[in-house]
Amino acid sequence: MHPGSISEQYNICGTPGCRCKDPENPQKHGPYYQLSYTWRGKSSSLFVRKDRLEGMRAQVANYKQLRALTQEWVDLEMKRERIERTGKE
Ligand SMILES: [Zn+2]
Repeated sequence: MHPGSISEQYNICGTPGCRCKDPENPQKHGPYYQLSYTWRGKSSSLFVRKDRLEGMRAQVANYKQLRALTQEWVDLEMKRERIERTGKE
């Protein structure tokens, strides 16, 4: 699993006269896929190769699901604690 989200990037290159710099109809290079994430307080990003894209999407989805389930669990534990302490929700 992996935290973060995947975005599409389109780039302009350094080659003179390239189609990505066409003044009429510029066609940027891409899409390139970038995974941006924050882990242990540190933000990072990395490029994802096309052949690894589906696997990485699955890893991101797995992490999202773990987070959602963990938050639900903690919510319930906090609620239980509140009920034990005060006798009401
Ligand atoms: Zn170009």
